[in-house]
Amino acid sequence: MIKAPVNKIIPFSSVDGPGNRLALFLQGCSFDCLYCHNPETINKCINCGCCVNVCKNNALSIENYKIKFYEVNCIQCGECIRACQNNSDPRVRYLSVDDILKEIKKVQAFISGVTVSGGECTLYIDFLMELGKKIRDLGLTFFIDTNGSVPLWNKKDLIGVIDSAMLDVKAYDRDEHIMLTGTDNDNVLKNLDFLIKSNKLYEVRTVIVPNVLGNRHTVDEVSKIIGKYDGSKYKLIKFRQMGVREDKLNSYTPSMKIMNELRKLAENNGCKDVIIT
Ligand code: SF4
Ligand code: SF4
Ligand code: SF4
Repeated sequence: MIKAPVNKIIPFSSVDGPGNRLALFLQGCSFDCLYCHNPETINKCINCGCCVNVCKNNALSIENYKIKFYEVNCIQCGECIRACQNNSDPRVRYLSVDDILKEIKKVQAFISGVTVSGGECTLYIDFLMELGKKIRDLGLTFFIDTNGSVPLWNKKDLIGVIDSAMLDVKAYDRDEHIMLTGTDNDNVLKNLDFLIKSNKLYEVRTVIVPNVLGNRHTVDEVSKIIGKYDGSKYKLIKFRQMGVREDKLNSYTPSMKIMNELRKLAENNGCKDVIIT
C-alpha cells in the first residue's frame, strides 16, 4: 500500500478551497522559498537525532538510527522544529491512503471536500491518485494546492482525478523566481496555462513582498493570463514577517493602499474575482 509522509492534518479549514475542508499537508518541497512560513515542511528528516534532547516531554527518541515520535507525550511546543537545522520535523508520520480515509470519515458529515497541500503534494503523484479516487467515491471534492514545479501536463491521470487546483505563481520574472525559490518558473507558467485550459484552476496565489519582488510585474502578467478566462480567482497575499526565517528575507507587510492598487491592476486586466488576504 502506498504511503506518504504527512506533516499535519487539519480537520476543518476554510482557507484551503471552497467550503469547509479537511486539509492534509505532506512533507517535502521542491522549492526553498525565502518567505516560507513552514520551513519545517521542506525536507525529509535525516535522522540526525539533534532534536531528541531538545524535547523535554519524552516525545522523541532515536532507535536503530531512526527518530521515533511518541505522539501521546507531545505538547506541540515546536521546540524540536526550531532546533532542526535541516528544515524538517521529527513528528512526520508515513500514512497510507486508508489511514487518511479513517481521518476523513470522522468528519465527513461536516466537510465538502479535501485539499492536499505541502510542502509540495505533487511530489507524491501515485499517492494523490489513489487518495483522490477514494475521496471522490465518498462524494467529496478533491483539490490540490501546488507550487507548480511538477509538470502536470504529463500527469493527465491525476488531472482526471482532481476537481480543481490552487497554484502559486510566486514571481513572473524567471530570475526573480530563482532568487526567491531556488528554482526557475518554467513549469509553473506552463502549469498555469495547462490548468486553465483543462478547466481545473480554482485559484492563483501571489505573495506581495515590498522592496524585494517586482510585485506589479507579476500581478500584471498573471492577471492578463487569468483574465482571458472566466472562473479562476486571484488571491493576493500580504507578506508577513512573523514565522519567516529572519536571516533570509527583510521586507514588511504591504499597506492596503499597495494591495488595492494591485487589485485594481488585476481587475483592469479582466480578473473578476481578486481577493486580498
Ligand atoms: S513552495 Fe511553499 S512549502 Fe515550499 S518552500 Fe515555498 S513556501 Fe515553503
Ligand atoms: S527532525 Fe531534524 S533535527 Fe530531528 S532528527 Fe530529523 S533532521 Fe535531525
Ligand atoms: S513539539 Fe512535541 S516532539 Fe517537539 S519538542 Fe515539543 S513536545 Fe517534543
